[in-house]
Amino acid sequence: IDTARPRPAATDEIVVEGARTHNLRGIDVRIPRNRITVFTGVSGSGKSSLVFDTVAAESRRQLNDTYDSFVRNRLGRPGRPDADRIDNLSVAVVLDQRRLSGNARSTVGTATDIAPLVRLLFSRIGEPSAGLSHVFSFNDPRGMCPECQGLGTVDRVDAAALIDPDLSLDEGAIRFPTFAPGTWRWKRYVHSGLFDRAKPVREYTSAERDLLLYAEGVRPPDPDPEFPRTGTFEGVVPRLTRSYLTSESPGPSARDRAALDRVVSSGPCPECGGARLNRTVLDCRIGPHNIAEWCAMPAVELAGVVGGTDAERVRPLAEALVERLGYLDRVGLGYLSLDRASGTLSGGEAQRVRMVRHMGGSLTGLTYVFDEPSTGLHPADVHRLTDLMRRLRDKGNTVLVVEHDPDVIALADHVVDMGPGAGRDGGRVVYEGSVRGLLHADTPTGRYLRGPRAVRGRVRAPRGSIGIRGARLHNLRGVDVSVPTGVLTVVTGVAGSGKSSLVGGELLRVRPDAVAVTQGAVGGGSRSTPATFLGVLDTVRGLFARRNGVAASWFSANSRGACPTCRGRGVIITDLAFLDDVETVCEDCRGTRFNDRALSYTLGDRTIAEVLGMTAVEAAGFLGEPGVEDALGRLVRVGLPYLALGQSLDTLSGGERQRLKLARELAAPASVYVLDEPTAGLHGGDVDRLLALFDHMVDAGTSLVVVEHHLDVVAYADHVIDLGPGAGTHGGRVVFEGAPARMARSGTGATAEALRRYLE
Ligand code: ADP
Ligand code: ADP
Ligand code: ZN
Ligand code: ZN
Repeated sequence: IDTARPRPAATDEIVVEGARTHNLRGIDVRIPRNRITVFTGVSGSGKSSLVFDTVAAESRRQLNDTYDSFVRNRLGRPGRPDADRIDNLSVAVVLDQRRLSGNARSTVGTATDIAPLVRLLFSRIGEPSAGLSHVFSFNDPRGMCPECQGLGTVDRVDAAALIDPDLSLDEGAIRFPTFAPGTWRWKRYVHSGLFDRAKPVREYTSAERDLLLYAEGVRPPDPDPEFPRTGTFEGVVPRLTRSYLTSESPGPSARDRAALDRVVSSGPCPECGGARLNRTVLDCRIGPHNIAEWCAMPAVELAGVVGGTDAERVRPLAEALVERLGYLDRVGLGYLSLDRASGTLSGGEAQRVRMVRHMGGSLTGLTYVFDEPSTGLHPADVHRLTDLMRRLRDKGNTVLVVEHDPDVIALADHVVDMGPGAGRDGGRVVYEGSVRGLLHADTPTGRYLRGPRAVRGRVRAPRGSIGIRGARLHNLRGVDVSVPTGVLTVVTGVAGSGKSSLVGGELLRVRPDAVAVTQGAVGGGSRSTPATFLGVLDTVRGLFARRNGVAASWFSANSRGACPTCRGRGVIITDLAFLDDVETVCEDCRGTRFNDRALSYTLGDRTIAEVLGMTAVEAAGFLGEPGVEDALGRLVRVGLPYLALGQSLDTLSGGERQRLKLARELAAPASVYVLDEPTAGLHGGDVDRLLALFDHMVDAGTSLVVVEHHLDVVAYADHVIDLGPGAGTHGGRVVFEGAPARMARSGTGATAEALRRYLE
């Protein structure tokens, strides 16, 4: 069914003229308001530069201008995007794939704003009454468990990790820097007269061992003269607990932090068992359940329970709650419980959680901007997501979507196709119009959409296998499966079916030498760039240093080369307590990060800032150094030829980060790799190149295990393991194992169904 809406009158369009952000070539675009516009094109073609860095950025800047001058001055002045004219904007809500806060107090319930409704319901009809609705919050002192302060977990010193039983005190049996032999803490132990300081701890009696570990305020009967006269003796565990783990302890130094991470383990709170709330609150029930039990249920199940509460006087509240839980289900997250920590969600899940928060609101006239919302979604669930986006439109909002998935593209009222290539070869609008027209357009996207679909007929024979027996992590139901080696294995299943638990958890446990290449942060902070990550920056600095006869540190924005104003960051960050931090480009170095002297040196006419601004392909040609060329060639092979050498890794999407890590791995491949949705962010045409790379790796002897929804990849696999049939407690089983051709022929379940449709 074609639900696309006709184009509105010209006055109802967002007008962009002469946009030149990043690689955009001074383009003009008109985007219909109150419609869904999908932006397509190969990776690096300029979709994000147009949608996020031009349209949404200008909306934000104009919004800032509406604040009074006090707030505005504190906000700083975000720069005007490089365009001649941008008109007719509304307030933009950007729903991207940044992960949600790792803060232990943030959960799915708090992030979706569903938790307050649950608390309100308990305060109204829970029995016996516990009071106001705030007491039901583990973030409120009146509601939190006093033992764990509402965290649900407590940190404990793990005695086994702390003590090396083969050593004596003299030899350093206490493996913690502040207790090392010779330190004053250590002296207290050896001079207490309680232990034979030369005896390995393994030979201690259990009483001696208890004393060493757990004694609290014991006065030693017969200490050495060197023991402090008024002193008492305290075991290592309470001593460390007091120094580091109570709420009064000062934060540890960096050195102690690393040592602490090794000896401290976190476990469920003994008082509340992880429920985070105090007794009074946990005793309050609606029917058989308390609030912690509600929050531990998958959202779909909870919706059923809430729908079943029959108290007439809370009907509207209960209905509102059921509606919100229904949104979670519709975005394919019905398997999540409200108490799930936000920080454990994937980027795609986090984006959809943000979406649920907005579905509950009643604002209209906004512009919602999505970054590849299909990430992490099974093809069978995509239509539910697109239903929600239509609802947003029908409430009177403008919806802009950057997306590669044909099922999401099909949703568009209007398409803007960017390209034709990436970076310098892109930055133009190559097609604008209806989806139907796109299918006939002579552009990479049009060609991809009408291209042939095929499934791998002849599969490679495995070299061996990795056996997983009785896997029970998270929702897995005692899974027995063998993962073939020497081939490309694709693991499929709806979101929440257990793919990551099986591959990221169990497989890595039985094959510890397997390397997981994740979409997670790269590390190294905001100063990391492709050049630092691939280790080519030192070579580049060396070239500059030799040519100019000065020290290499002049070419480092962390060292002598740094712009003094922004200290080499390129931006000035204003920290606002009540809003997101605001970044503005440093005016002195204009964002280059370097000082004038550093910029006065050149290599073949280019400054260090200009070289770092080159894309991988450009730089490889320009520098002509074999080591650099090799590293940059690997970037090209993983589909990232358009990355600039000095681009902050903070600006990369999860999919790009994963491919960048893969590029580094290719220098010295491991025997088994585990990848999680490597096609995220990739245009269909680029997926073919990634598959060619996979072939190359497998043919060179590497085993690849890839969690993936993209049907091009599923069809290309040697072996498919499909988990399901549903999500959460309804999943966790293997529903199909074998070649994709057989799956399409005779497999059952959502993935086999989707594969059949795809091949039609
Ligand atoms: P897409 O969204 O289509 O993948 P982008 O808009 O992210 O493409 O990228 C278009 C071009 O702009 C690429 O060459 C990319 O390297 C460059 N680019 C993207 N972000 C930045 C940035 N923050 N600074 C400089 N160049 C950028
Ligand atoms: P998939 O990779 O197929 O999306 P997952 O393996 O991530 O599925 O999740 C399977 C089930 O395990 C889901 O019900 C999910 O909520 C649960 N789960 C996953 N990770 C965690 C975690 N860190 N803590 C608790 N439950 C988890
Ligand atoms: Zn507790
Ligand atoms: Zn500066």
